[in-house]
Amino acid sequence: MSKELIRLVDCCMAFDGELVLDHINLYFNDSEFLTLLGPSGCGKTTTLRIIGGFIMPTSGEVLFDGVRMNDIPPHLRQVNTVFQRYALFPHLNVFENVAFGLRIPKTVEEGGRKKKVKIPEDEIRQRVLEMLEVVSLKGFEHRRVTELSGGQQQRVAIARALVNRPKVLLLDEPLGALDLRLRKDMQSELKRIQQQLGITFIYVTHDQEEALAMSDTIVVMDQGKIQQIGTPEDIYNEPKNAFVADFIGESNILDGIMHEDYVVEFFNRKFKCLDKGFAPKEPVDVVIRPEDIDIVPVESGQLKGTVTSVTFKGVHYDTIVDFKGFKWLIQTTDYHPEGEAIGIILNPDDIHIMHKSQYSGMFGDYSSYSEEYDEMDVFEPEEEGGHGE
Ligand code: ATP
Repeated sequence: MSKELIRLVDCCMAFDGELVLDHINLYFNDSEFLTLLGPSGCGKTTTLRIIGGFIMPTSGEVLFDGVRMNDIPPHLRQVNTVFQRYALFPHLNVFENVAFGLRIPKTVEEGGRKKKVKIPEDEIRQRVLEMLEVVSLKGFEHRRVTELSGGQQQRVAIARALVNRPKVLLLDEPLGALDLRLRKDMQSELKRIQQQLGITFIYVTHDQEEALAMSDTIVVMDQGKIQQIGTPEDIYNEPKNAFVADFIGESNILDGIMHEDYVVEFFNRKFKCLDKGFAPKEPVDVVIRPEDIDIVPVESGQLKGTVTSVTFKGVHYDTIVDFKGFKWLIQTTDYHPEGEAIGIILNPDDIHIMHKSQYSGMFGDYSSYSEEYDEMDVFEPEEEGGHGE
């Protein structure tokens, strides 16, 4: 059972009167891999810096184990940070880079008196070698850091941040400087290290694939606000609004009207869905993932369109289909050439309904399209179906 370690209570941050964090409420569990994900400027790094103690929130509280830490400086929090630019000491070898923090004497109180305590040299040696093994750099201790690859240097930076046994490691886009292949390798390495050591990683990235691959929990942020918190599966399969749906993976987002529970209308047709609890005739965002759309012969499609472009992506084809001016992205392993007339089938569990947010659908004003489709068949939902609540 995981235990709560850190909590941000109603944290706001303003720079020069401009609000960049807007009432953030968030907790971080022991041994959790949590990712702050969002576009550039959404407030991820600012959140991390508040946890690290580098800045104080303008209002709100930072709690560690339930104790207020707002005024506690970074070196007195059980937190270390790994940055994208990992500033290793070029004149020191791998061993000395990792040992650096352990050699700094610590001030401790004993019987009311403060005294400086040094870690014995044989303990330093043991801890550095242990940590080099954890980051798969055993045998590299005498290497100069300038002779290492980017990925190896990043491992040294991680070992250096972990060697003094923090409870929490903050990672601010740590793989940003690495090429794609190395990035992928390091993603699984980082996940392994986190699981092996069982400490909390708080990871910042704007890369949704990275977040999905590594995290136990993802916090999606935009414009200083939390948009959604959940497991990678929750966030991908049940995005809360059109922003999250669009930011995580690719989506077709259209304007619709919720007729009644389990019935949504778009393109002047009614479709069965699994959503309920909306106001009658509420305008909604309808989100459909490109991989969930089935292409069928044109005569059996609920909707009919024409392929306007096809791009081979290795595993599937990105197929763009024009349905009376709305371009659908469909991902399919079957090849449908440009110009082919096709049909589309949408299953109820592939239609995701969201309350309208500030992020409007790509289809624009729904009402202006109603008459245009009068001649099309109306797809009436079937009566039966599991609604999965
Ligand atoms: P990125 O992915 O680009 O690093 P981010 O999501 O981490 O972005 P932050 O670095 O937290 O975003 O910045 C949030 C907002 O706060 C931005 O508009 C940024 O310009 C502003 N900001 C951050 N630090 C400061 C500062 N010290 N002074 C003034 N404005 C700041």
